[in-house]
Amino acid sequence: MNEFLEFKINLDSFIEVLNAKLEQNNTQIQTLLKQENKTYVNFVKPIQMMDERLEHFFTPLSHINSVNNSDKTQKVYAESLPIITEYSTQISQNIDMYKSYKEILENEKDTLNFQQIRVLELNIQGFELSGAHLDEKTKKRLAEINIKKSELSNNFSQNLLDATNAYEKIITDEEDVKGIPNSDLEDAKFTEDGVVKYKFTLQMPSYISYVTYGPNREIREELYKAYVTRAPENAIIIDELLVLKNEMANLLEFENYSEYSIATKMANTQDEVIGFLEKLVKDSKAQAKEELKELQTMSDTTLENFDSAYYSEILKKEKYDLDEELYRPYFEQKNVVNGMFDFLSKLFGITFKKVDEILWDDKAFSYDLHVDGKLRARLYLDLEARESKRGGAWMHNFQTHCTKEDGTEQLASAFIVCNFPPSSQNNPSLLRHDDVVTLFHEMGHAIHHMLSTVNENEVSGVNGVEWDAVEFPSQFLENFAYEPSVLKLFASHYKTKEIIPDDMIKKLVKSKNFLSASGMLRQLEFSIFDFKLHSKVYQGDEVQALLDSIRKDTALIKTPDYNKFQNGFAHIFAGGYAAGYYSYKWAEVLSADAFFLIVDEGIFNSKTAKKYLDIILNGGGSKSMSILFKELMGREVDTNNLLRLNGIK
Ligand SMILES: [Zn+2]
Repeated sequence: MNEFLEFKINLDSFIEVLNAKLEQNNTQIQTLLKQENKTYVNFVKPIQMMDERLEHFFTPLSHINSVNNSDKTQKVYAESLPIITEYSTQISQNIDMYKSYKEILENEKDTLNFQQIRVLELNIQGFELSGAHLDEKTKKRLAEINIKKSELSNNFSQNLLDATNAYEKIITDEEDVKGIPNSDLEDAKFTEDGVVKYKFTLQMPSYISYVTYGPNREIREELYKAYVTRAPENAIIIDELLVLKNEMANLLEFENYSEYSIATKMANTQDEVIGFLEKLVKDSKAQAKEELKELQTMSDTTLENFDSAYYSEILKKEKYDLDEELYRPYFEQKNVVNGMFDFLSKLFGITFKKVDEILWDDKAFSYDLHVDGKLRARLYLDLEARESKRGGAWMHNFQTHCTKEDGTEQLASAFIVCNFPPSSQNNPSLLRHDDVVTLFHEMGHAIHHMLSTVNENEVSGVNGVEWDAVEFPSQFLENFAYEPSVLKLFASHYKTKEIIPDDMIKKLVKSKNFLSASGMLRQLEFSIFDFKLHSKVYQGDEVQALLDSIRKDTALIKTPDYNKFQNGFAHIFAGGYAAGYYSYKWAEVLSADAFFLIVDEGIFNSKTAKKYLDIILNGGGSKSMSILFKELMGREVDTNNLLRLNGIK
């Protein structure tokens, strides 16, 4: 029997087959809707499996477009997106389906199991959040708002991009670039009329390089000022977006957009979110003040915002002098991967076996996961950078664990994609410690998806997990990449086989927590601003006034009046984070809390680790994470462990 789909894709016929499949799905939905007595078994299950099979067909395209990008994959992918979007929009507004789900829940709520009930509840909520149940006039208005919102978000990021690209600072005096790392300097260097000059821009690597290493304070301020005053025209867009989001929330019967946002999240009330963030501010502030005091000793003048990166770097060098390059020989890619498998085997009893199959690239490999000798899932690793691969690192689910219509079991599978240094015949791929952390992070997502034992695919693995809890299992696992007993499993010098020395590990941990309280305050400032901003309609100067009032508590160095940070806050105005930026910290608290319970029990003897597998990983999205978390810990979450993780006392 073939448990796992063969990875294959035919780009030539893709669109044609996609259209045929969607047509078939639509016909099937019509047939299912016509049934007299609709039940979970004869209605919900077939629709769920239909979606699952569509994923199986579509995922190879989005995957290949990301890891082996070509004009052809781009073309087919771009062509398929509107087709898929139209199909899912139609379904999300299908009032007959919505009514059927409600009816089935009503009729069968006493006989269905909790997984099935959650599938129904989440579907009903999804329909209601897109307004499927409202009158035609309201629906029309919601559709208008959605279109207008995406236009505005698009303009917001376009303005920001244009402003970022429009600026450059040309430096001609060698004195002004002294101390900037060579590789950065090479990127900035150009020759004009026989003169060597340096160009710095507001693009991330270039901007960061100058404000971190640039010795000329005036230039640092000039760049900083250019950066924080980008796209002033976005202020009007912010006003418009806030009005529209509030109207949308009201039409859907929420008090404000923040309340709408948390309807699908683990947090229960707006007060809970604000209380959580404000407590962390209170807990971090004293240490942040100490950090600033120490930083101030590095400079004769009173520190301004545009100084902090520069003096932080000097202080960091003085305190830790951590040379990344010295670490890399201890993190040879194959050692790291095998070591991570070894760690997971010791922690959870999972074993990994390499599969002999041909994939999309020679550097991609697949592994079968076994738990207690039983085959459970397949993992695909594609770790090395290449030209045709999109940057960054991610986990993408492919198959999802469930019981099919005929009662047989479907196993799960997932991809982990990274951009580590390529290996060659003569040179191994040597990772930075950051890369090791990234790999553990993505593996945390992957095992969350693959080890689920839930029978309903819409709430199995990472499906149905609340947005502010999704990063919990990934951050949880990444914490172990700093643990001495874990590092010693695999961090051995690829030439000498020497195990990484203790003082090198100590240095890693200490430098990780460098200025952590200040960093915490900054993230909290963003989170509180975002959440409060969406709790009523702030307009014009009120937006700045809100930010200023929050900064009274969070900004230890006074922010210059010209700073208009909000006009560049793309996460919330052009991304999906509106009234959700707090999720980063929310998930971090869960991960730190569970992590330390296991560390304190002695990692490899931990009973909680086994419970983590049974409750969190097996449970997937079948219950709210607030319930699963309590089942795991036997108590509510304790934010103190986040402070401990960050070395905040
Ligand atoms: Zn993640």
